[in-house]
Amino acid sequence: MLANVRTGILGGTFDPIHIAHLHAGETALFAADLDRVLLMPAGDPWQKGDRETTSAAQRLEMTRLAVEGTDRFAIDSREIDRDGPTYTIDTLLTFPPDEELFLILGADAALGLPSWHRWEEVLERAGILVVPRPGTDLAAVAATVPEASILDMSALDISSTSIRHLAASGRPYRFLVPSEVHRFIEGNGLYTQV
Ligand code: ATP
Ligand code: MG
Repeated sequence: MLANVRTGILGGTFDPIHIAHLHAGETALFAADLDRVLLMPAGDPWQKGDRETTSAAQRLEMTRLAVEGTDRFAIDSREIDRDGPTYTIDTLLTFPPDEELFLILGADAALGLPSWHRWEEVLERAGILVVPRPGTDLAAVAATVPEASILDMSALDISSTSIRHLAASGRPYRFLVPSEVHRFIEGNGLYTQV
């Protein structure tokens, strides 16, 4: 009998995607013996309304560039392709029932899980893999989401916000993103203003 496909889903705004996202995905692939990791850019960034955000098409393109030529990473545009905000549970329910799903979350994102729409159903449908993130207490994550597996990874103090700030102030960030992503940011004049 064939084993079910084991898929990790790493969602985010990816504005821009950076090496901590990719390292988290690879750590999850390895630790949970996944077959593949889907990088899934969010549609409407409705929770981040304070700033003119990069277009969904540009965030998707940077994500595509980041995984080009890699083996077990792929992009998945299903949240961008839907209109308006998407709930994680609705996204999970679009996958075939026999596919084993795992959400890959940074520790900061994991702390918010109990506030998600129909979060109990999220936990029924998907395993939760949490990667450490500076500034978030892993004991708090374990207490908040006891079902989560906390992965062994060195916390990396990198965020899209800090990269946007570095770019806007003309400071170096080149090696915090894949080289093709750096080229895209520069070529399209992204993040010239915070
Ligand atoms: P922003 O600063 O715009 O919020 P971000 O770097 O937090 O960007 P997101 O797109 O918000 O990136 O995050 C997508 C997912 O990746 C979330 O689960 C988040 O916790 C995780 N993540 C992002 N950066 C890191 C990091 N340095 N270490 C661990 N997880 C991370
Ligand atoms: Mg974030």
